[in-house]
Amino acid sequence: MKASVYYGKGDVRVETVPDPKIQDPTDAIVRITHACICGSDLWFYQGLDQWQSGWRTGHEWMGVVEEVGSEVRNFKKGDRVLAPFAFSEGQCEFCGKGLQTSCIKGGFWGGTNDGGQAEAIRAVFADGTLVKIPPEVENDEAVLTKILPLTDVMSTGHHAAISAGVTQGSTVAVIGDGAVGLCGVLAAKRLGADRIIMLGRHEQRLAIARQFGATDVVTSRGEDAITAVQEMTQGGAEAVLECVGTESAMQTAIGAARPGGGVGFVGVPHGSEKINIGRMFMSNIKLGGGVAPAKAYIPELLNDVIAEKIDPSPVLDLTVDLNGVPKGYQAMNDREAIKVMVRP
Ligand SMILES: [Zn+2]
Repeated sequence: MKASVYYGKGDVRVETVPDPKIQDPTDAIVRITHACICGSDLWFYQGLDQWQSGWRTGHEWMGVVEEVGSEVRNFKKGDRVLAPFAFSEGQCEFCGKGLQTSCIKGGFWGGTNDGGQAEAIRAVFADGTLVKIPPEVENDEAVLTKILPLTDVMSTGHHAAISAGVTQGSTVAVIGDGAVGLCGVLAAKRLGADRIIMLGRHEQRLAIARQFGATDVVTSRGEDAITAVQEMTQGGAEAVLECVGTESAMQTAIGAARPGGGVGFVGVPHGSEKINIGRMFMSNIKLGGGVAPAKAYIPELLNDVIAEKIDPSPVLDLTVDLNGVPKGYQAMNDREAIKVMVRP
């Protein structure tokens, strides 16, 4: 089969690799119908993560089950499924608590595991990981495209909103106009936020933010952005979603938070480790979040997509086939595309 493989900075190639086979009785083999390139894939693409040549790429995918191992109970050949970006066995303390990203046997698609930017994948811990797409929508291409962002960015945006403490009537600020930040706007709106301030500059992205529920936009950066949010809200936003991971994004997030408020951080830390804990102390600002347990959130978000209450698909603004994956990385890296959908 064909799969996308990482070779080094700026070098992702689609090549022929061995077909996936059932190796453990809890595995399923899934033929991939839809996948994505993620903003977080750009960290290794830019050479900023310790990735090794030969590793598989892609952690966001859905498809059709082709074969199941002898211990798989919940799925059969022909089922249409989506996968959260992390796999989990479903049995441990953390799976029981809805924190499947901390599963003691868990891990992430891609790297030394099979990746989703491929024709097929060995889906480990199928019962603990995969989520079935209801048969009534399984052939509806428009609905499938709306479901696809639940594999990561919509679940991650939701996690940011939950972790920041967004509730009915909240005033929210969102740092980051990538797919996660945009989905964070949609999640905050879904949770009942009253006012949602989007920090960004890119007109096309701001248009999606407004469509998703942003009521205000701040186009300045750094200290100016903090001042703008502080003035607009007379003291800061009650909930701030940090959806980037850089030092400046975290500084802006903490600076824009209201005393007693919360910051939900979901940007993969690449500099944001340098936290302004002094301001957090003086203003009693809570910090929560981390890697999103998408598996825990997918069922409720899937229900809302099918009920046409949310539609995160506008973040998918470029579609490529499998051979187009390298071009897709390039387009996202050049910020020509917000998020790329892959149709193997
Ligand atoms: Zn992702």
